[in-house]
Amino acid sequence: MTPLAAILARKIATEGPMRLDHYMAECLLHPAHGYYATRDPFGAAGDFITAPEISQMFGEMLGLCLAQVWVDQGRPARFILAEPGPGRGTLMADMTRAMRAVPGMLEAAEIHLVEASATLRGIQRDRLAGLDVTWHESVEELPEGPLYLVANEFIDALPIRQFERHGNAWAERQVGLGPDGALVPGLTAPLPLALLRDRMADTAEGDVVEICPGAPSVASAVAGRIAAQGGVAIFIDYGNWRSLGDTFQALRAHKPESPFANPGEADLTAHVAFAPLAHAAREAGAAVSAMTPQGVLLERLGITARAQGLASKLSGAALESHIAAHRRLTHPEEMGHLFQTLAIYPATAPLPPGFDGAAD
Ligand code: SAH
Repeated sequence: MTPLAAILARKIATEGPMRLDHYMAECLLHPAHGYYATRDPFGAAGDFITAPEISQMFGEMLGLCLAQVWVDQGRPARFILAEPGPGRGTLMADMTRAMRAVPGMLEAAEIHLVEASATLRGIQRDRLAGLDVTWHESVEELPEGPLYLVANEFIDALPIRQFERHGNAWAERQVGLGPDGALVPGLTAPLPLALLRDRMADTAEGDVVEICPGAPSVASAVAGRIAAQGGVAIFIDYGNWRSLGDTFQALRAHKPESPFANPGEADLTAHVAFAPLAHAAREAGAAVSAMTPQGVLLERLGITARAQGLASKLSGAALESHIAAHRRLTHPEEMGHLFQTLAIYPATAPLPPGFDGAAD
């Protein structure tokens, strides 16, 4: 049993079964034993690898996208360049390097990171040495001003709740204790839930639906600011338009395992549903792109030309790994289609480059 499992088992023995979002929050961010709070999980030696760690081209393309938006919106003399969940700081380093090609842009940028983990803040500080960076606890704390925000694999780390359909009611998945004292998932009695009223039409008996309570709050905070003060927010994550099915998963040393097996020692994520993000952003007064596959977005932003430029300086194993990285980021059978993107922007501004426009 992990140290965190022992703490949670005692809590459940005293207070009763725990909601899944509360369990996920403890596993990821418990100050002493939480997964992100205690380690650097990224890269080949870590538990998983993310797009910015696969190739510098990912951040460069997003940096150029932000640059085009900055130009399209009249080159504001000061703006907030923000990233929630910046991991090792690689994406911000690559974006800002690409922005140097655009005269005046980096000088206008004030860099703000939202990071819950003290360990990762330290790594970000080292990676971004030379840039003036301010850290925050939440997206709501970001300062006023035009907001240019990129979030890669941030929403998938926000805690979820899970519900299983029983007739016209929903049973919630919770974490309880098995006969041997181990943490095991269970279900509450089914209840009709207003929260899931809009899912009655597109689900069937036994279907599992996930809700990420934090996601619409983030989208709404960001979108309200962008609608009033300009900018853009780009969300990139493994996901679909709507949630359907159990996508709660744990990864440890690049291998999947039960999310209840080693709390605090495995990365926990769930696929992102983009519809609630888009809905919250529109409610807050912003325009929203259509959900656009990562591979399509990167191709339109020019990743193939950039890949060819970089390839001309490489040979042997370095060239092969560069070609594999390009494929991994863009190919529909790799991250290209599994990962989806969404842009939130002011209704008065042009659609950000590379994104599909919304149908309406
Ligand atoms: N964007 C990075 C890292 C993704 S991992 C990349 O693509 O490599 C998720 C990141 O979000 C980590 O930095 C983690 O510490 C942070 N994080 C998770 N939950 C958070 C929360 N509630 N508030 C702020 N940061 C959080």
